[in-house]
Amino acid sequence: MDDVLIVGGGPVGLFLAGELAGAGCSVQVLEREPDPDAPSKSLPLGMRTLWDLSAEVFYRRGLLADILTASGSGEKVVLPRTLHFAGILVDPDAIDVGRLPFQLPSSAPERVVTSLAAVESVLGERAAKLGATVRRGVEVSGLEPHDDHVVVRAGADEYVARWVVGCDGGRSTVRVAAGIDFEGTDPTFTGYTTHVTMDDPQKVRFGFHLTPWGMYLRTQYEGHVGMNDFDGGAFDRSQELTLEHLQEVLRRVTGTDVTLTGVRAASTFTDRARQATTYRRGRVLLAGDAAHIHPPLGGQGLNLGIGDALNLGWKLAATIHGQAPAGLLDTYTEERHPIAAQVLDWTRAQVAIMQPGPLAQAVQGVIRELIRTPDVATYIYDRLSGLSMRYDLGSDQPLVGRNAPAFRLADGTSLAELMADGKGVILDFAGSLRDAATTWHDRVRYVSGPAEDDLGFDAVLIRPDGIVAWAGGDVPSFTEAMNRWFTAGVR
Ligand SMILES: Cc1cc2nc3c(=O)[nH]c(=O)nc-3n(C[C@H](O)[C@H](O)[C@H](O)COP(=O)(O)OP(=O)(O)OC[C@H]3O[C@@H](n4cnc5c(N)ncnc54)[C@H](O)[C@@H]3O)c2cc1C
Repeated sequence: MDDVLIVGGGPVGLFLAGELAGAGCSVQVLEREPDPDAPSKSLPLGMRTLWDLSAEVFYRRGLLADILTASGSGEKVVLPRTLHFAGILVDPDAIDVGRLPFQLPSSAPERVVTSLAAVESVLGERAAKLGATVRRGVEVSGLEPHDDHVVVRAGADEYVARWVVGCDGGRSTVRVAAGIDFEGTDPTFTGYTTHVTMDDPQKVRFGFHLTPWGMYLRTQYEGHVGMNDFDGGAFDRSQELTLEHLQEVLRRVTGTDVTLTGVRAASTFTDRARQATTYRRGRVLLAGDAAHIHPPLGGQGLNLGIGDALNLGWKLAATIHGQAPAGLLDTYTEERHPIAAQVLDWTRAQVAIMQPGPLAQAVQGVIRELIRTPDVATYIYDRLSGLSMRYDLGSDQPLVGRNAPAFRLADGTSLAELMADGKGVILDFAGSLRDAATTWHDRVRYVSGPAEDDLGFDAVLIRPDGIVAWAGGDVPSFTEAMNRWFTAGVR
């Protein structure tokens, strides 16, 4: 019996598989699609932004360079400017990164424009290298939870594991089979992402454009056009996306008489925003789009899902190895649910002011003014980048619960080098924890030595997901934090 069955080999399932296999768990991924390649995953339709926090996460796991290579430097696609709120652009010069708390310069690029194909290929290779099995062409149809295992059905076949994680996307079979509610709001628009040829492309301007009839976007990738049509989300996805239909919508949304001559690829989405009420029911867990869906305004969904897998991986592995403190696995929903809820509201706020009509257009005017100010520009950057994301770990210490700053020791060792294998780290800058830390050498990497910049801390305890669990200098509170996060029984 495997430790974990992951249903869905998209980016979130594959990243989680690598996290679990790297932590010594036996993992199988069951993926419906026989073929990993699909036009919707390659550029331009598969274009995805990895924001600063995710770029740092992949950098710390030693994966970012491979993702950049797989993205293909020759095909590097740059949006005119990706930083926007409801299609209203943020001027990068108005952003003051110095205002964000606890930031240290990292070697990872701020943000990466890549493709789903590139991310999946790198994460799939890593998962396989670490020992996970990816079974393609297996469509899961149901599951049966038991006290100490779960039976997963795929047609006539059965798979058994101690734990199951549904990473099977927004229409998750696992979520439905586990009886987890998916609450939220209904759609107001149909979104289109298209790769087309046009007779008169100059009629469709580059960049984001809010119009009295919706919104459209043209990227620098030839023929890549997106549009939001406020039709109540009425487009039937089982219907064929014809050239005539796309041209009618594009003409209406752009307010031009542009002529389409061909459609290379196209797909639709909506602004439906829903979230699972819990990410765990017994031995069944959810991550990624299976746990939350929302429109891709600001490119957050993949970033959120990677954050889920990062948070869940080490907690589930510790539970499987019998090393988890009581309640550790439940902190997965406690920490990740509020983060996704904020993102859902962030997209709803944008949809509210993108609606056609004078009321929303009046609010757009106000936002256009505000967005020029450093306060608002920096706030929007902060929300999108994820840099100030903070879990409520019940501590008043303002660094606790945040992604660890990119500490670098005076000898040149970076935090990223210390975290590549997914272990937690004790950075003991002042050397005051040397004796106390020996108790946990089997669980957590202990490193002592002065930092280039210690931001005023004697020591920090960093969880395997890069989150600061404790910061300070006194041994009793350090010991308490170690017991809270790393010990099944008090040491
Ligand atoms: C136009 C567009 C642009 C976007 N841009 C961005 C962006 O710039 N940045 C960003 O962060 N996010 C973006 N997103 C969102 C992002 O693509 C998703 O959030 C992300 O792909 C979710 O990953 P996932 O692994 O959770 O789910 P998916 O990518 O949906 O993968 C789920 C996998 O499960 C498999 N599966 C489904 N059902 C079963 C079953 N029953 N049995 C077995 N396998 C099954 C599927 O075949 C699939 O491989 C965008 C989305 C769209 C539509």
